[in-house]
Amino acid sequence: MRILFLGPPGAGKGTQSKLLAERYGLFHLAPGDIFRQEVKNGTELGKLVEGIMARGELVPDDVTVKIVEKRLDSEEAKKGLVLDGFPRNMNQALHLEEALKQRGQSLDLVIELSCDEEELIQRSMTRRVCSRCGRPYNLKLQPPRVPGKCDVCGGDLIIRKDDTESTIRERFRVYNEVTSPLRDFYREKGILVTVDGEGEVDQVFSRILGVLKEKGLVKEESDIL
Ligand code: AMP
Repeated sequence: MRILFLGPPGAGKGTQSKLLAERYGLFHLAPGDIFRQEVKNGTELGKLVEGIMARGELVPDDVTVKIVEKRLDSEEAKKGLVLDGFPRNMNQALHLEEALKQRGQSLDLVIELSCDEEELIQRSMTRRVCSRCGRPYNLKLQPPRVPGKCDVCGGDLIIRKDDTESTIRERFRVYNEVTSPLRDFYREKGILVTVDGEGEVDQVFSRILGVLKEKGLVKEESDIL
């Protein structure tokens, strides 16, 4: 099963795609997480992308595509894939299509999480992320059990550097301009579904599972067909 999540910043792509990957043992591939790790480790790539991310702009396609392609060939990716935050423009979408084709693969479904923009800006401001394992939280919608600590690994929760209001607004501008046309691209292929991304994390996840069952991609909650 190969699923792609689309949606504006803060719509819950990270949270929902990680839940889905965990439930079905799929490989979660998110360039944003990879870039954040590189920044944290102070690598050459990290230095290259740090400013770009802090401004809410897109990392150049050649850099991003290379990172994604490398992981498509990993052992874990053979079990199935959840793409989160890639592709983000038409050029990346075409690269992805070609890369999958070369491997005899294709996307089964594109899930667009829809949400009201102002609500999302508020959501991004209350977002926190584990500094150790990257798991996302939201102080209002999905608070950690112990304040300031990750439920899974106990790491400290921090505010993402790109969760300032000006960066969030820039990320929305980029999304509306270059990412949202991908909806039409996938709609024309007949693989786009829109899921209401508002409400509690569990509610949204149930809606996603409902769609996967309806599309015949899973039978019961833990079975992939
Ligand atoms: P995300 O965690 O998906 O919100 O991504 C955080 C930041 O990483 C974005 O604002 C971009 O600067 C960069 N990034 C993530 N995915 C991509 C992508 N597919 N293409 C270019 N830049 C990306």
